[in-house]
Amino acid sequence: MLRNKSKLVLRDLKRVYFDSQCSYCQKARTLCIKKIRIQRNYSSPPGEVKSLRSIITPPVSKIRNIGIMAHIDAGKTTTTERMLYYSEYIRSLGDVDDGDTVTDFMAQERERGITIQSAAVTFDWAGHRINLIDTPGHVDFTLEVERSLRVLDGAVAVFDASAGVEAQTLTVWRQADKHNVPRICFLNKMDKTGASFRYAVESIEQKLKTKPLLLQLPVGEAKTFRGIVDVVTKEQCIWKSATGSDDGKDFERKPLKEADSPDLLRDTIDARTALIEQVADLDDEFAELVLREFSENFDSLPADKLQSAVRRVTLAQKAVPVFCGSALKNKGVQPLLDAVTKYLPAPNERNYDFLQWYKDDLCALAFKVLHDKQRGPLVFVRIYSGTMKPQSAVYNINKNCTERMSRLLLPFADQQIEISSLTAGNIALTVGLKQSATGDTIVSSKASVKAAVQEAEKDMRSNGGRTCGVENLLLAGVEIPEPVFFCTIEPPSMATQPDLDHALACLQREDPSLKVKLDADTGQTVLCGMGELHIEIIHDRIKREYGLETYLGPLQVAYRETIQNPVQATDTLDRIIGEKRHHVTVELDLRPWDGEQSAIAPVIEYAENACSLLQPELREAVENGIHTSYLQGPLLGFPVQDVVVTVRAVAANPDSSPTMVSACVSRCMQKALKKADKQVLEPLMNLEITVGESHLSAVLRDLAQRRGSIQEIQSRQDNKVVIACVPLAEMMGYSTILRTLTSGSGTFTLELASYQAMSRHEQTALFNRRTGLA
Ligand code: GDP
Ligand code: MG
Repeated sequence: MLRNKSKLVLRDLKRVYFDSQCSYCQKARTLCIKKIRIQRNYSSPPGEVKSLRSIITPPVSKIRNIGIMAHIDAGKTTTTERMLYYSEYIRSLGDVDDGDTVTDFMAQERERGITIQSAAVTFDWAGHRINLIDTPGHVDFTLEVERSLRVLDGAVAVFDASAGVEAQTLTVWRQADKHNVPRICFLNKMDKTGASFRYAVESIEQKLKTKPLLLQLPVGEAKTFRGIVDVVTKEQCIWKSATGSDDGKDFERKPLKEADSPDLLRDTIDARTALIEQVADLDDEFAELVLREFSENFDSLPADKLQSAVRRVTLAQKAVPVFCGSALKNKGVQPLLDAVTKYLPAPNERNYDFLQWYKDDLCALAFKVLHDKQRGPLVFVRIYSGTMKPQSAVYNINKNCTERMSRLLLPFADQQIEISSLTAGNIALTVGLKQSATGDTIVSSKASVKAAVQEAEKDMRSNGGRTCGVENLLLAGVEIPEPVFFCTIEPPSMATQPDLDHALACLQREDPSLKVKLDADTGQTVLCGMGELHIEIIHDRIKREYGLETYLGPLQVAYRETIQNPVQATDTLDRIIGEKRHHVTVELDLRPWDGEQSAIAPVIEYAENACSLLQPELREAVENGIHTSYLQGPLLGFPVQDVVVTVRAVAANPDSSPTMVSACVSRCMQKALKKADKQVLEPLMNLEITVGESHLSAVLRDLAQRRGSIQEIQSRQDNKVVIACVPLAEMMGYSTILRTLTSGSGTFTLELASYQAMSRHEQTALFNRRTGLA
């Protein structure tokens, strides 16, 4: 029990146990957080009036929308925090380990020290407006990463210099490839024991299959790390040692001199020569310049010529510039910020096809929704064209509705500044949009969509292409991965069910990877999520943000069902309802799908004679029936996948309603599925575990008992990295188990690889467990 709350200080947030049942403790905790805010001057955003003017009109060429992406614990949050500090948006340094950083603003994030929601933060650096999106590093939240990549123009990949490329970096890197996002790399933690610049660069080259451009060299490594050398300008930046103020604001930048450090100068000249050759290989314009004027003497090649060539190569994604530093020890972040402005693209340097049709009309993408108790939903938008103004109506194409936006804010983590208008290229926070959800396209009015469609059609016709529908004008949303875990959720009482429904509806708008279903048999609400942590966080948020103490059922694996042989079935439905007689006969063929990728949605084919006769309404009814029967498989009621349905014949008398047709198709499907050889499919996960050598054998022994197949064991510095495939069902609570096995030192990531058939034996065991026979 806490006694004197007025004496609490910042550090206590971590040290003191705040009992969640005790209101006094909770008040003390809130007070503590408030204190931090006051200390850090949250309430008065920097240079209000002065920066307000620049907030209204940043020239688009000076905007950088960037994301920070990395493996968990590489130092994204710490780096972001330093960026905000050096650009003077916060007055003291936050520390993830103390739980008081700006970007990890959700209570759980502060407590768990991980970044869950990507929060956008705006700040200015060297005459540039930087909109920064902190993306989460945990695999359970890859959708968040993908969603933020969608609205970025460039990204900074942060690495732990002692670990090189880790599992999650690979995933995020591939996602960034998919969205054509130009990148630069930051090798963080250069101060850490075991940090190795060379090792990290090699691992980037080999694992990410990309060409690293070394624009910096470290001065010292691990304990002796004290600064960096700019390879392009041959200057060195040295941060002062740990005396006096050690916030890293002051550092010395001076040209490298032969007399001071001959070795370093030689290394730098070598690195510069290698860089020039590398860039000349990738950029013809630069190659010509070098050959024409500097082939004799690379040394005299001006820095700005080299910089602009590096920029072109980076934007074309032919290579990635590499920088280094230590965010925690306040070294190297300012040069990194300079690099962001120098080498990453402005919004108008990215190509977005759909923009040509909107001309200067508003077109924006809603990429994130947050629920605020007072102000309702806050929607983060990226403006691609036109201007957004508060107190105006906008049209949401996806929802086909007009909404009113009351306020427009610039996001400084949990502090926001009101603005009177915002132009293309910016990221903003809107208040008042009630319908808009993540992934929706927002334009000025319905008429402007019509105009854009006409524009697009004109364009397509002149190119001899097809006509264009609204769908071509939507900014492509992100693919939502299939949830692999589910569990039931119960409200504290029947009376609070509507509150729970409301909470879940809000959470789903924020996070489309959360799915909520109603169990048709039991009437219970079911949560489906991406991982144990995902569901745990949702549970926690319902409690904190909506004040509902809910009960979760046991966490279960989302299995699937399929068939193994072709089957046929016919069914007839004959019913008199009211005056009308409904008579439907259906004949279906089912066979296993043999495509490479699994087919989650039904694959529907029509036999030739059946196809030509079907009216559109009837066809829709048939497909509805098939979709319904897909939801519950014949074995254990899990969704069906990898089945091809051929509709052989459908005969319905004119009085039959579409509902009856659907019902008959569905029944016929069930009949066919029951007849077939059935198979349960289980999610198979890619697992990557990093452990110290001494714990390796214990981890491997344990994996063998989990039906795990080990694919590779790599060495990473002093650690071993085990790459394996394991059924998800065997991985419940693995974080606790790994902690025990490795005395807390091991880490792992888990990601869906595919669905695979269970063995007969496993299937029977599962069947017995589920039906209560075991
Ligand atoms: P995130 O998960 O990528 O957001 O990483 P965090 O910023 O939360 O940092 C994870 C851990 O690494 C924290 O304990 C940080 O204090 C630590 N850390 C971050 N940057 C550095 C660094 O430059 N050097 C060292 N030695 N540790 C760092
Ligand atoms: Mg973080």
